[in-house]
Amino acid sequence: MIKAVKGTRDILPPDSRVWNRVEETARRVFAAYHYGEIRTPIFEETALFARGVGEETDIVSKEMYTWEDRDGSSLTLRPENTASVIRAYIEHRLDQRPGLQKLYYIGPMFRRERPQKGRYRQFSQIGAEVIGSESPAVDAEVIEMVLEILSQCGLSGFHLVINSVGCKNCRPAFLALLRERLQDVKGQLCGDCQRRADTNPLRVLDCKVPQDQPVIETLPSILDHLCEVCKPHFATVRQFLDDRGIQYEVRPRLVRGLDYYMRTTFEVVHGSLGAQNSVLGGGRYDGLAESLGSRVHSPGIGFSIGEDRLVMSVEEASQNASGGALDVFIAPLGAEPLRHAAGLAHELRRHNVRVEIAFEGKLKRALELANKLNARYTLIVGETEMAAGVYALKNMTSGEQETISREQLAERLYAGK
Ligand SMILES: [Zn+2]
Ligand SMILES: [Zn+2]
Repeated sequence: MIKAVKGTRDILPPDSRVWNRVEETARRVFAAYHYGEIRTPIFEETALFARGVGEETDIVSKEMYTWEDRDGSSLTLRPENTASVIRAYIEHRLDQRPGLQKLYYIGPMFRRERPQKGRYRQFSQIGAEVIGSESPAVDAEVIEMVLEILSQCGLSGFHLVINSVGCKNCRPAFLALLRERLQDVKGQLCGDCQRRADTNPLRVLDCKVPQDQPVIETLPSILDHLCEVCKPHFATVRQFLDDRGIQYEVRPRLVRGLDYYMRTTFEVVHGSLGAQNSVLGGGRYDGLAESLGSRVHSPGIGFSIGEDRLVMSVEEASQNASGGALDVFIAPLGAEPLRHAAGLAHELRRHNVRVEIAFEGKLKRALELANKLNARYTLIVGETEMAAGVYALKNMTSGEQETISREQLAERLYAGK
């Protein structure tokens, strides 16, 4: 038997409902903040990710699905989408369009990560990029929007962490200092950190190895080394968040390893996922477009939400919430009632009521099935009921049964639709 490839999975009903709901919620929030959807190809030239994500990252050095195409060119399944969005922005001259470019995407990404629970090699991200402004107000709006998506998905108890990683003017001096300190202590750090101490010292700061933490705590903080542009930028971001009553923690160790990431970085951790697992991460990348060939200065900020984890959190949060997958299960008693039931179902479904019909079998079977399907109501349609213009409606939670007219039924089921 052929099975799904390791690290991939099928998402089946009813689980796919949660995915749909999450995506609908995100689209609604994106629209309110005036974002438009961008759909880029799922594979690109390998060079795009090597440059846009960084040769030094684990993603590019170990995790990409790369192959040589028949014409000898090197292609890669996208491991993330920011580089593709910026490529499209440059290619289609979106800088010529009026106003900020606010683009969102929803779709699969591919990384050959070590298999572990909750990690997939094909995973889905919901993300967005805003291109064309350096304003700290944009950073705050992006963060506000991200939190709005989470809370409209029904999540609470998430934790926002923010930081500034400086810019090309103030970071080199900080990096030099960090490198110097690391030479003294790197012998006490993990293998990855010993390598990073030379290649990418910032990444030492977000090492997750527990034994490294006491040493990392003693390293210098970027916030003490911000320049006269970065310092007020970060203060303004914080002020805008404070104005909206958004709670956050400033964590100087929250960094991004690439040169073009600058100033604001942020992350949201959701309680039920544990401290190591963030639901989303984002940050400002004012030099990325230039590094991918843009001739105009195109500052930007973006984020991506790990949809697989978000869905997991939403499922946990709604585990006890009421509302089965099915509003009403119609059980017709005979051939004529089935014809009637089909018409009635059509009308209800046009009003977004979730309806299923028992196409065959006896009433007892139908009621059993309604229970298994978690239907809120079962509606019994018999010849007598049809003649009298009424139905028998059984509440599947309380077990109560009542006789109601078509109008009363509509009233009951359309509520909240
Ligand atoms: Zn700076
Ligand atoms: Zn380490």
